Amino acid sequence: MSEQTKNDRGAWLQGPAAECLIPERQANPWRLVLLGAPGVGKGTQADLLHQRLGACHLSTGDVFRAATRNDCNPSPAMKAALEYMSRGALVPDSTVWEMVRERRGCFRCHGGFVLDGFPRTIAQAESLKQLLEEEQLPLHAVVNYELPLAEIVERLSGRRTCEQCKAVFHVTRQPSKSGDSCDRCGGRLFQREDDRPESITVRMEAYRNSTAPLIQFYQGLNLLMPVVAEGSPEKIFARTLKSLQERRNGNALRAS
Ligand code: AMP
Repeated sequence: MSEQTKNDRGAWLQGPAAECLIPERQANPWRLVLLGAPGVGKGTQADLLHQRLGACHLSTGDVFRAATRNDCNPSPAMKAALEYMSRGALVPDSTVWEMVRERRGCFRCHGGFVLDGFPRTIAQAESLKQLLEEEQLPLHAVVNYELPLAEIVERLSGRRTCEQCKAVFHVTRQPSKSGDSCDRCGGRLFQREDDRPESITVRMEAYRNSTAPLIQFYQGLNLLMPVVAEGSPEKIFARTLKSLQERRNGNALRAS
């Protein structure tokens, strides 16, 4: 993949009117959903899957965060969504779905896609299923990242993000050499509002109630692919890739 197309998500982050530098056509594009509790490392894995496999990283959380920065005059629905988000609560399905449906062209991306943070409820999963059927774009797998709860809370509460380049650090596991500023660009490091302890509790509750049932939903569709999310991002990525390849080879064998 060329430098120019790296991490380009114009149409996804700003809406369909924005120009996207479409990645070159991939021979076998992947269409994936990533599941797992907040803090399990889905965003990092989505970014690696984008860099190594060329699939477009589609995160609904990133769209809301981009709106916080760019949208000087947010719509009432977006204002309400940002308020839910800052508390760590799930944004209502209707708002999320309106946003995703508006960007449905991103599902036809030549590079394929990796959905990160969506779907988060059964209603969202049902809507996505219908949309992909209409577009004739079947999913290849739903990767479920698994990690014990205590480990997740430790990861989230220590996470610090660069205000400018969005690089992610951890106060003990991956501290920035320069303390409060980013090693890459010098930007200020901050704690995401939803990584504060009171929001983490709400996010975990929302995950247990709304998102965990998706595991059964996708198991029923024979798409679920569990991956242990322990170890370094590279180790987790290697595990993911191995399982994806085994899955694709198995499907090809069954089809022959
Ligand atoms: P994330 O970056 O995926 O952890 O998302 C950050 C926050 O954005 C979540 O805690 C929710 O408040 C909101 N959000 C993102 N995606 C969704 C979704 N699919 N459904 C409901 N709320 C969402």
